[in-house]
Amino acid sequence: MNVLKVGLHNRLLKEIGDLADRAGLRVYVVGGYVRDELLGKAVKDIDIVVVGNGVEFAKTVARAWGKANLVVYEKFGTAMLLLDDHKIEFVGARAESYSRKSRKPAVKEASLEEDLSRRDFTINSIAASLRGKDFGNIVDPFDGRKDLRKGVIRTPLEPEKTFDDDPLRIIRAMRFASQLSFDVEPSVLKAARKMAPRLEIVSQERISDEFLKIMGSTKPSVGLQLMFDAGVMKIVFPDVFALAGVEQRKEYHHKDVFLHTMKVVDNVAEKSESLWLRFAALLHDIAKPKTKAFKEDVGWTFHGHEEAGARMVKPIFRRMKFPMEHVPFVEKLVRLHLRPMALVDDLVTDSAVRRLMFEAGDEIDDLMILCRADITSKNPKMVEQVRRNYENVARKMKEVEEKDHLRHWQPPVKGEEIMKVCGIEPGRAVGRLKQRITDAVLDGVIPNDHDAALKYLLEIKDEILSTMSEIREKHAE
Ligand code: ATP
Ligand code: MG
Repeated sequence: MNVLKVGLHNRLLKEIGDLADRAGLRVYVVGGYVRDELLGKAVKDIDIVVVGNGVEFAKTVARAWGKANLVVYEKFGTAMLLLDDHKIEFVGARAESYSRKSRKPAVKEASLEEDLSRRDFTINSIAASLRGKDFGNIVDPFDGRKDLRKGVIRTPLEPEKTFDDDPLRIIRAMRFASQLSFDVEPSVLKAARKMAPRLEIVSQERISDEFLKIMGSTKPSVGLQLMFDAGVMKIVFPDVFALAGVEQRKEYHHKDVFLHTMKVVDNVAEKSESLWLRFAALLHDIAKPKTKAFKEDVGWTFHGHEEAGARMVKPIFRRMKFPMEHVPFVEKLVRLHLRPMALVDDLVTDSAVRRLMFEAGDEIDDLMILCRADITSKNPKMVEQVRRNYENVARKMKEVEEKDHLRHWQPPVKGEEIMKVCGIEPGRAVGRLKQRITDAVLDGVIPNDHDAALKYLLEIKDEILSTMSEIREKHAE
C-alpha cells in the first residue's frame, strides 16, 4: 500500500479540484474517504480540507453547483453540503482539536501537516491532493498507509495526549478496530486504559454514536471486548459490564454471562444486519446479575430474568440516548427470548405455538434468529441437538401459520362491534370480552373467523357482564 497516488473515484472530487485551481487554493480530500478508497471500499461521505478558509471555499463550491443548501457552522469553521446521497464537509486546515463538538473548538489556521497531526489515528490522517497538477497525490506524514497494510490503529501523536485532547477517541479506536478488523497498538491500548475515566466529560450522544457503529460492525464483540478490557465498558455501559463474572450452568451456554453475550451478539450479527436485533442480543440476559440465585440441586438460576430484563430496556435506552422508537422491539425480544425453547417438547399443543406467534407478531422471525444465536455451548453434540429442536419448533410454527394465518392477526370481532352487540359503553368490559374471544381462537375453541367469534360473543356475554357488575356492586357497598 505504498502507493503515491490514490484513484479518487468520485467525480465530484475532480470538480472540487477544478474550483480549487481557479481559486488558487490547496485543497485535499482527507480522512475516511481516503482510508476507505485505499482499502477498496465504497465511500459516500467526503471530508475536504482547505489550506485557508474552508467555509469561504465551501460557499464557492455551492455557488458553482447552484446549491442553496450549504450548512455553515461559523463557530466551528466548517460547512456541509448534501448532494444526492453524498455528504461533503469542508474545513480549513487547523491547529486545534478535531472534534466538532468539543468544548472550545479553536480554529487557528495551520499547515496541512499540522492539521493531519491533530486527527485521531494515522489511518485517518492521510490526505490526497485535488489540484489538477497533482490530483490524487498522497500526503501521509504519519505513515498511515503502513498501518492500513498492517491493520493497526495508531495515533499520529503521543496516544495519551491524543486521548486527553478528546477522550471520545478512546472509543473511536475500538470502533475502527471493530469495523476494519484491525488491532489497536499496545501503547494506544495502554493509554486508553489510563485515560478511560476521562470519558466522563464526553457527551452521551457522541459516545452512543460510536457505540452504535461498534454494534453495526461485522463482529461487534471485537469492539465490545476492547471496551471491556480497557475499563471503558464499566464507565459507559455499566449494565453490560455487570454481566462479567456472573456464572451460569454451562451445558447450554458459555459459563460467563458476558462472554456468552458476546458470542450471541456475534451469532446474530452473522445472520442479520439489524442493529436493534443485535441490541436485543446484547440485552437478552441483562437482568441475570439481578436475578441470580443458587439452588442446591440445580445450581445457578435466574428466574424471571427475561421479564426483569425487558423492564430494564427503556431506562437503559433513555440513559444511553439510544433512539427510543426501538424500545418496544428490543423489549419484546428480551421478554420472549426463552419462549421458543418451551415449545421444543414433542407434546406441545398447537395452542401454545399459536400463543407465542400471536405475542411475537411480526417479530417472530427475529425472535427465532435470537434463540438460535443463544446456543453457545462448547459441546457440539449439545449445539446440534438444540438446533434440531429449534427446527422442530420452526416447523410447528409453519404448520400452525398455514392453518390459522396468525401472522398479522387481529381478533375477528372489533371493540366497536362488541359495544354495539352488548349495548355497552367503552370500558373494561369491552377489553375483557375481546380477551376471551382472543383466548378462544388461540386455544382452538373456535375457528379464526368473524361469524364464529360473534356467535361465541353472544354465548359468553351475559355471564361476563353479570360477573363484572357483581364485582362493581361489591366494591360500591
Ligand atoms: P466514518 O466511516 O465513520 O465516517 P471517518 O473516518 O470518516 O469514518 P468521521 O467521524 O466522519 O470518521 O470523521 C472524519 C475525519 O475527521 C476522520 O477521518 C478524522 O480524520 C477526523 N476526526 C473525526 N473525529 C475526530 C476526533 N474526535 N478526533 C480527531 N479527529 C477526528
Ligand atoms: Mg466520515
